[in-house]
Amino acid sequence: MPKVVTVFQRVREYEKVGFYVFDKANKIMMCKLCNVIVDWKDTCEKHVNARASHEANKKRVMSEGGSKRQTLISETLDASKRARQEKEQFTKDTVRAFVKANIPLFKVDHPAVSEWMEKYIPGAGSLPHSKTLRDVYLKNIGEEEEVNLKEVVKG
Ligand SMILES: [Zn+2]
Repeated sequence: MPKVVTVFQRVREYEKVGFYVFDKANKIMMCKLCNVIVDWKDTCEKHVNARASHEANKKRVMSEGGSKRQTLISETLDASKRARQEKEQFTKDTVRAFVKANIPLFKVDHPAVSEWMEKYIPGAGSLPHSKTLRDVYLKNIGEEEEVNLKEVVKG
């Protein structure tokens, strides 16, 4: 039988990571670092471990004394950083897919390809020119693949 846990017990357990009882009557627990509601019944660990931003928020709050204004600024910065990372990942994956499928990278410069991407993949229209893909991304991917290979061999 599963152990019955109350929101108050949860908060005692997770106080150190920043959780608190936001609403006693409705048993709502929040993370004061991320400013989000955490489902105290089962997502505590998930929140702390899976949410990369929780750690980042913790560092930020500690270094900035938790000022609200600062919080908003960093949240905006976080969002644009995330968008940049997603774009970066998309570009990398595109290069990887093209290379694996033996499609020459200059094909991305073709208007038909960029139109197609722009239409179906938001933000993809601004994919870098194939020269950048070759000089920067292909090189990085080559290095990453080498690392992966080494790990496979080692394991
Ligand atoms: Zn959090």
